[in-house]
Amino acid sequence: MRTTDTPPSTLRGIRRKAKKLKRDKNISHDEALHAVARECGFQDFHHARRSLERGSATPTPNTTPTEPQPSDEKPHAQGTVMGIKMNLAKDQNGREWDADTYQRGMGAEPLMCTHCGVSVTHNPSYTREMYDKPVLVPGYFRLLPKGAHASHCRFGVDEEVDKIAMESEGLIESIQRDKYRMRLVMIKEALEGASPAKDQDSDGSRAKTGRTYVRNPSLLPAYINSANRALKLRALCASNQDIEQHLELIFEGNVKVSWDQFYYETERHMEAFHAVSQNVVQHPIALQGNVKSVRRALKGDASKNVLNLQMNAFRVDQDDADNGIGLEVSVWSRETAWFNGLEDGDDVVVLGVWKSSITPPSAAPREGGRFKTLTKRRLSLSLILKPQISKVR
Ligand SMILES: [Zn+2]
Repeated sequence: MRTTDTPPSTLRGIRRKAKKLKRDKNISHDEALHAVARECGFQDFHHARRSLERGSATPTPNTTPTEPQPSDEKPHAQGTVMGIKMNLAKDQNGREWDADTYQRGMGAEPLMCTHCGVSVTHNPSYTREMYDKPVLVPGYFRLLPKGAHASHCRFGVDEEVDKIAMESEGLIESIQRDKYRMRLVMIKEALEGASPAKDQDSDGSRAKTGRTYVRNPSLLPAYINSANRALKLRALCASNQDIEQHLELIFEGNVKVSWDQFYYETERHMEAFHAVSQNVVQHPIALQGNVKSVRRALKGDASKNVLNLQMNAFRVDQDDADNGIGLEVSVWSRETAWFNGLEDGDDVVVLGVWKSSITPPSAAPREGGRFKTLTKRRLSLSLILKPQISKVR
């Protein structure tokens, strides 16, 4: 499904959109290219070209050619055995380098995992333009495509999934060696069951077809805790594909759900909005983002606490070039303490069933800005259990 304000994900798409923007806004070709590239989450057009020419749709350089892996069913998966992002790597002389300050060629390459010695590559830090202030996306080291950490390396994903699965009370089950699956229906029911607003069946045996596991109401918070651990692990990975290989997701009727439909990083928040507003998904979804503000006890009411995520820059409305479209993500909590330890600038991941809404266009707050009016879309969620939100960095 493509909607009019979905940013292009190819160089051709960026160039085409830039042409239109150049005409509409009467700006230079270069300015238009950079503007469209930034909308797509890249630093600028050069960054977009570097990233996309190498066949990766996300802003990450990827220098090694890859071939399709026969074991993988996903058409866009390439170089999927990647593991966890690393802050440090060592070079051929054993010298350690920090991901935030490293630049290509500084060390004796290829660089290696400090723990197991497998070859790694560097993704430099960059600044992402957000609505009101730029956010620094930290650099990291990661495996080369098709690389794998040695068994027992602390940066491999599989061992971590294994640990989480063992303590998950059945939420995550083993399906074969190094492969697990997480049942999203149990997360949904855990949230419904724990909701103070809903009745729950006392014996937990709600009549529903297709159930293939035993429901135990006392374990509901344990399910959310395990899901939370899986999300934290995902946040440590460079992409959804890194975790997908070891942990697949299923929903009602054992239908497989891709991690792209479940886990949305900042640059994909608008996709999450479309999924929720158009009822594409019924399962809970997770949004990762950077905390913009935490406000407690609104109007003196201790049960009204709200945390907002940093908004992406407003995008041009395809039907009205003077109108910008933005998305605000808000998390509500009835308990003030559930936001303890969360501060502006923290990265968090929030899991649950979201609601969407749209406000009509209103005059842009800044005179002389890019847009005359702004339309705000909203995604909001009310926490039922504290571990639905957690800090990931
Ligand atoms: Zn390693």
